[in-house]
Amino acid sequence: MIDIQRRNGGKDFYVVKDVIKNGKRTKETVRKSSKEEYNSFHAAKNGLENMDLTAISCAFPECDMLRPIPREQKRLLKTVLPQRYKQFTDIYCSQKCRNAHEQDLKTVLKE
Ligand SMILES: [Zn+2]
Repeated sequence: MIDIQRRNGGKDFYVVKDVIKNGKRTKETVRKSSKEEYNSFHAAKNGLENMDLTAISCAFPECDMLRPIPREQKRLLKTVLPQRYKQFTDIYCSQKCRNAHEQDLKTVLKE
């Protein structure tokens, strides 16, 4: 599972993931994060306790924002809906990213 941790007395933020090293479960740093991403990640995680969570990243290629999502919901979006309806769904972290991506894609999106 992906998580975002605070370090150095809460001044620095890092995305970490669970890995198995020498038979031991440990956290590996993926990249630096930000206070904004930390707060939004953990706010989204609240209310999802006791669920099997995974993470999904913003669909806008210029954005690294991660958000936790129940695995069942990710399975629905990424497997069940494509199988049933050939429907592919992207998740954006914000309306701002959705708009920016649609702007980048406007030449192919217009019919
Ligand atoms: Zn984003």
